[in-house]
Amino acid sequence: MPPEKHALLSASSASRWLKCTAAPRFEEHLPERTSEYAEEGRLAHAICELKTLKKFTVMTSRTYTTRLNKLKKDPLYSEEMDKTSDLYIEHLIEQAMLYDSTPTVVAEVQVDFGGYVPEGFGTCDNVMIGGDTLSITDYKHGKGVPVSAVGNPQMRLYALGALKRYAPVFGDAIKQVRMSIDQPRLDSYTTDTITVEELMAWGESIKPIAQKAFSGLGEFAPGDHCRFCRGKAQCRARANTNTALEDFKDCVPAGEWNAKAAAVVASGGVVQGAPPTLLSDAEIGDLLIRGKELVAWYKDLEEYATKALLDGKPIEGWKLVAGRSIRTFTDQDAAIQAAIAAGYDEALLYDRKPKTLSEMEKLMGKAEFAEKIGGYVTKPLGKPTLALSTDKREAYNPAAADFAGVTASE
Ligand code: SF4
Repeated sequence: MPPEKHALLSASSASRWLKCTAAPRFEEHLPERTSEYAEEGRLAHAICELKTLKKFTVMTSRTYTTRLNKLKKDPLYSEEMDKTSDLYIEHLIEQAMLYDSTPTVVAEVQVDFGGYVPEGFGTCDNVMIGGDTLSITDYKHGKGVPVSAVGNPQMRLYALGALKRYAPVFGDAIKQVRMSIDQPRLDSYTTDTITVEELMAWGESIKPIAQKAFSGLGEFAPGDHCRFCRGKAQCRARANTNTALEDFKDCVPAGEWNAKAAAVVASGGVVQGAPPTLLSDAEIGDLLIRGKELVAWYKDLEEYATKALLDGKPIEGWKLVAGRSIRTFTDQDAAIQAAIAAGYDEALLYDRKPKTLSEMEKLMGKAEFAEKIGGYVTKPLGKPTLALSTDKREAYNPAAADFAGVTASE
């Protein structure tokens, strides 16, 4: 994972620079922010790498335990990382079993895709090769949005780099490429398989775009992809798009009725009905789509201004205030003792609470939990959430919601 940091046209930002060719040079001079999430991701990747080496190469248990314990000492370590890295390894084993004979498995592979993207290089979390198939897998620790491997440019660039790297050994034996993205924290596992021919044709097709993005002659093209851009709050092109309110006018044709009514009156007729004062549902649907990016952009502006003010930079017209907070004991044990001393019964001061479902599953282990008390588990339908009609999730069914959980409790 680490070496990808300095490629101007990195694989991980390809979905952005392929759409907004101005982004790489624009972002280049803006400060890079390392978040705790990114650091957590780095640690989770290191654990995944270690477990891959243990599973697929020769490593003594002693070395493995020493290295793992060292990683576990990191303050960002959590037990969840142990579980998600195990799921990742399970998936790698499944991938390996798809081969007729044991494939070559390599972790953290440096790949160079400079033949397609100027100075393009990166690191592949896992590469497997055997028979006619090259498999690459990317582990993502984030749990913000699921990222699909299907048509994913980051994976395709890694695959091009991996093909180049292993060509001297495997020659043209490789005919197809399988690309997977594992996001265990979101329970998202996706795979895309294409032929080497298709992959190379795609590589050729993006060459001129990459060249443009590298040259500094790229064009700004705001969109969904702005969300991970370093300049998302300060970008003028994005601001221009989001403040071009005439974009919203044509979906609320307020003047149309007036013009038609005036024409009726001018021809001696009488206007029937009333002006359309209510938005139609179709207009609301359209406005929701158009406003989505506007809301995301406003949040980015808020985040930027908050950080600037915290750093002591003034933002005209704004200041920071303390948000709502809740009272808390400075020393809870001492407070309870004082309450007992004041005559309150200890039983009144404590609640006896059962463990949560997840805590009980952790306590009993998955198998025993499923066997002994799995029958008492139900998963109600989640709260209805608005999503674009193109969203892959199944549409919410209010009738199903009414009956959700009935069978499981019977
Ligand atoms: S914020 Fe959007 S439009 Fe501006 S440079 Fe970044 S990706 Fe391009």
